[in-house]
Parts: sequence; structure tokens; C-alpha cells
Amino acid sequence: ANSFDEECDYLFKAVLIGDSAVGKSNLLSRFAKDEFCLDSKPTIGVEFAYRNIKVGDKVIKAQIWDTAGQERFRAITSSYYRGALGALLVYDITRRSTFESLKKWLKELRHFGSSEMVIVLVGNKSDLIQFREVNLDEGQSFAQLEDLFFMETSAKENLNVEDAFLKMVTSIYDITC
Ligand code: GDP
Ligand code: MG
Repeated sequence: ANSFDEECDYLFKAVLIGDSAVGKSNLLSRFAKDEFCLDSKPTIGVEFAYRNIKVGDKVIKAQIWDTAGQERFRAITSSYYRGALGALLVYDITRRSTFESLKKWLKELRHFGSSEMVIVLVGNKSDLIQFREVNLDEGQSFAQLEDLFFMETSAKENLNVEDAFLKMVTSIYDITC
């Protein structure tokens, strides 16, 4: 047994997805910055970060995958999604085009990911209220329509970031365990 087996009861894979520059990598580094282990896999252009989360008396190791910018070229491969039980689907509240891309990302998530995948819709950059192009209720309505959890976050101000990831992890736990 390796140390990982002794430390945790479950391993969940989750992915970050959404247009380029919406704040995916910053959300992840916010979430993972304490117990933090970033493995670079430059050959396949993907990075992972891990964080252990206690749910009841169980320890869940969340393995969160981040893109290395392939989303800019719509070149995310199916292996990115494979086995993922959860996703943070991120848009930028100051750029309407990133909200309009959500349908496309959802389609990909549902095509390549697990059918039971827990998806949390995240409207990031909530600190930039003066530049807002997508209203809170638009995010809420979209999430309701598509059966997603929803939260607005700020990676910069560290608002709701923990909540968004924890919502995803605990929901996966409720469904799978
Ligand atoms: P990614 O391409 O989706 O991984 O986006 P990044 O995490 O690289 O962030 C893109 C840009 O947005 C960077 O300049 C970040 O500093 C900025 N950014 C990310 N999150 C926030 C946020 O919550 N608020 C503000 N004001 N800027 C942010
Ligand atoms: Mg990134």
C-alpha cells in the first residue's frame, strides 16, 4: 500500500472547464493552496491538483484536473473527461461570450463524462461588479434549466471558492458512496 491508500477512503476525479481566461486555474490554486500537490504533465497538457476533504468520518481525495490552455483551441480530449465524477463549469460574469459558450461545454461534459456527473456552474470574477455583463439571475436560471448547482465566485477575493468545490465533492459523495 502506498501512503495515498492509508490517507484517504475515496478518490474522486473532477475537471475544470470553460472558456479561456475565465479564472479556472486561479480557482484551483485558491482551493488547493493549503494541502497542495501540483503535478505537471506537460506531454498531455494537463495539470492535477489534489486536496483531501473530510466528509463525516471519511477522507476524500479530490483530484482536480485543470487544462493547460487547450480550451482556447477547443482541443480538450476525451481523456480529460474520462472517469470524472464532477465538474466546475466556469464562465466570467464580465464577458457575456463565456456565458454563451456554456451550452457547448455542457454538451461536451455530458458526452464524454459520466452520466451521473455532478456539475457546479460557477460565475467567476464577482468582484468586478462594475463590469458585469451577466446578471446573477441569468446564471441561476441557466443552472435551474440544466439541473446544475450554481454559485458566483471570486478567485481574487476568495469568495465562495471553497463552497463551490465542497458542493461538488460532497454531492459526488452523496451520489456515489
Ligand atoms: P483560465 O484560463 O480559465 O485558467 O484563467 P486564469 O485562472 O488563468 O485567469 C485569467 C485571468 O483572470 C488572470 O489575469 C487572472 O488574474 C484573472 N482572474 C481570475 N479570477 C479572477 C477573479 O475572481 N477576479 C478578477 N478580478 N480576476 C480574476
Ligand atoms: Mg488555466
